Amino acid sequence: MNDVKAILLGAGLGTRLRPLTNQVTKCLVPIAGRPLLDYWVEQIAATGVNEALINTHHLAEQVREYIEAINAQSGLQLLESYEPKLLGSAGTIAANPNFADGADEIIIIYADNFSDVNVRDMLAFHRQHDNPITMLLFHAPNPQACGIAELDAEGRITGFEEKPQQPVSDLANAGVYIFDAQVYKQIAEMNLFDLGYDILPQFISKMHGWVWEGYHRDIGTYETYLQAQRDAVEHNKRAFSGYQPAIFLDRDGTLIEQVHYLSRPDQVKLVPGGAEAIKKLRKAGFACILITNQSPIGQGIITENDLKEIHQLLSEQLAQHDTKLDGFYHCPAVPQIKDRTLIEHYDRKPGPGMLFKAAADMNIDLTRSWMIGDMISDILAGYHAHCEGLILVETGKGLENYEIAPQIPIHKVADLPAATNLILN
Ligand SMILES: [Mg+2]
Repeated sequence: MNDVKAILLGAGLGTRLRPLTNQVTKCLVPIAGRPLLDYWVEQIAATGVNEALINTHHLAEQVREYIEAINAQSGLQLLESYEPKLLGSAGTIAANPNFADGADEIIIIYADNFSDVNVRDMLAFHRQHDNPITMLLFHAPNPQACGIAELDAEGRITGFEEKPQQPVSDLANAGVYIFDAQVYKQIAEMNLFDLGYDILPQFISKMHGWVWEGYHRDIGTYETYLQAQRDAVEHNKRAFSGYQPAIFLDRDGTLIEQVHYLSRPDQVKLVPGGAEAIKKLRKAGFACILITNQSPIGQGIITENDLKEIHQLLSEQLAQHDTKLDGFYHCPAVPQIKDRTLIEHYDRKPGPGMLFKAAADMNIDLTRSWMIGDMISDILAGYHAHCEGLILVETGKGLENYEIAPQIPIHKVADLPAATNLILN
């Protein structure tokens, strides 16, 4: 019986993902509501890995908490390798020369990619050929920015170059390797910095390439990260049969009259025709879910209990019209930046976190759902969660000075009843 271990390289700073990575370390940024690391942990567990090591640096305590949570479950055990100064991918191996003890192979994973690669199949391939290294390859849309491999007819890597000016192929290093334990030891002893630049060129023709034709994306930039949310929803679409569509509703300026820092229940007043609109939408089979940013809680202006009372009163007003909301989600995070188009906290709009949470809790098909709001942050939250329709109402704050990117189709209507007519027709 072969024993296989894994190293998850997750300590990168994620500078291009700021401001999100100011608050969460890159390997834990959520994709479709789950930390990125979750997807890799699931993959290696399915491959038969019982022990894996994660390197940490920026916001290491967050990863430590994650490790504890995984280790509290049965099965996979995670170990931490803390790096006060980033060591580089080869440096992490050099710092852990004995990690391969007792294993036949080590899987090395750059945990800042988002991929549906089947690592178990890759391991099976590795065990069939005679080379000590297998490198995962994918078809890169931008080969000049990647490490590019050249393969012979048997899949042996006969050339490898980082960021070539004239790429020989589009087959790019996907950041997953399998090393035989003995080669791992050898690489550890070389004591160098980067696998791609310093180590792999020395193993030309001692590596096989395994090409993944499925989904693989580097989420290094803010744009590719946001695209990955939508891809994840698209990817799961098959699972949505039987799921219901939802209307995600902003609260202030959309469902109720805009009041600056609403803090008392007596300030709650439904917009004209608001209750009837909810009633019609629910009758048409939509779950109606409130999605509200509540920074006044984070600032200490109101308490969680105050918010409960405010929403209780809202429910009572809707009950007078024989209708109700199906869910309430709020985010107490306080923004540090003014730009309402940048995600600083995943759950706070324009982050899609509350929508993904609701979708998971209530079996919602996001691709048949709509977001209705009065601000750019509402619209973008719906867009990042892959909602079918995005509606801006004129009853609240409006777009202010923001421009919407041309690829984001938005409907502008007068108010919630008009939005309802648009959806139902
Ligand atoms: Mg609003």
